[in-house]
Amino acid sequence: MDGARLSRRGALAAGLAMGAGAASSALAGPAWAGEAARPGATGPGAARQGTAGPPEAEGAPAPFIVDCPSWGARRPSSPVKIWDRRPIRILVHHTATANSADYSRPAADRLARGIQNFHMDHNGWLDSGQHFTISRGGVVLEGRSLSLGILNGGRQQVEGAHCTGQNVVAVGIENEGTYTGVDPTPALWNSLRATCAYICRQYGIAPTELYGHRDYKNTACPGDRLYGMLPRLRTEVGATLGRRVSRAEAEKASWPLLRVGDTGPDVTAAQYLLRDAGATTTDPTGSFDEGTADAVRTFQVAHRADDVNGILGGESWPELARPLSRGPGRDGGDAWRAVDVLAEHRRVESVPDRVTAPVWQRLLGTGGTAVRPVSDPPGTARR
Ligand SMILES: [Zn+2]
Repeated sequence: MDGARLSRRGALAAGLAMGAGAASSALAGPAWAGEAARPGATGPGAARQGTAGPPEAEGAPAPFIVDCPSWGARRPSSPVKIWDRRPIRILVHHTATANSADYSRPAADRLARGIQNFHMDHNGWLDSGQHFTISRGGVVLEGRSLSLGILNGGRQQVEGAHCTGQNVVAVGIENEGTYTGVDPTPALWNSLRATCAYICRQYGIAPTELYGHRDYKNTACPGDRLYGMLPRLRTEVGATLGRRVSRAEAEKASWPLLRVGDTGPDVTAAQYLLRDAGATTTDPTGSFDEGTADAVRTFQVAHRADDVNGILGGESWPELARPLSRGPGRDGGDAWRAVDVLAEHRRVESVPDRVTAPVWQRLLGTGGTAVRPVSDPPGTARR
């Protein structure tokens, strides 16, 4: 998540967006009505919830998921919105909280309550933003209320608040900890794999359709280490589902996350592109300093980014690395200098005359299987 790091501006915007979204009439399913309203919760494919229930058989067994009442969730401040459509992908987050060594169930319950309190009281959201939470001890918990019953039904989706533009089309999973420099615990990893596999099975989502928050937004979430493990997660979820995921499928096209302290040709290219976009007049240095962060913020403001934070991630890259075409009077300039720097660095001998997003991604070393550009339907709250 980046809720914990949400700027004042972001928190305010989120609060305003919630007010608008809560008034929407797109509700297609039950609002909060306690346990009895959970569709599919007792069906044969249902994940075990609460404190009892039969174990699941074959394929991707349903993990034990602690439901909202069992971890002491508050009632949402307004009805949770349910869409009559299946999500098409999963987004992996980290909570950016301490890497706790308390792997107990009470600690997991406290984590879920803490996130809910923060999202409701600080961000002004109606409930937890994420659909599910996984503790470092491997405890899986329901996040936003009704998410578990809706998942068990396999036909609808609870609107979340974990990534603007991806709150209906993607299931959001918060993983406890900060994974910028360390790997997640084996218990968390095993539960993440099992949870993803179960979600994929319930909704018919391909195991390759697992992403990190940074693929869509200007955020370090879910941390360099956990993000770097996503190809492995796609492969292992595929194996759980009995589907082989090739190495090429496991690598998805994305963008490099750049922030203060980074150096090298990718930074130089970004600096050329920022100057090309009019966000700075400074000569590229190859060193991402505070001046570069300022230029990124200027660019983010100009492009009305959700995250105006000086971090260059999946939200701003597609706008910065705009399509280029060679032609009379169109060669040269800073954007082409960016292309040249990257082509030389990555020894790309022949750059196409038309540089589109996949070409930029290859030049930036983040090429892989293309990502389907699907985002939330109209009527989804912006947050
Ligand atoms: Zn996140």
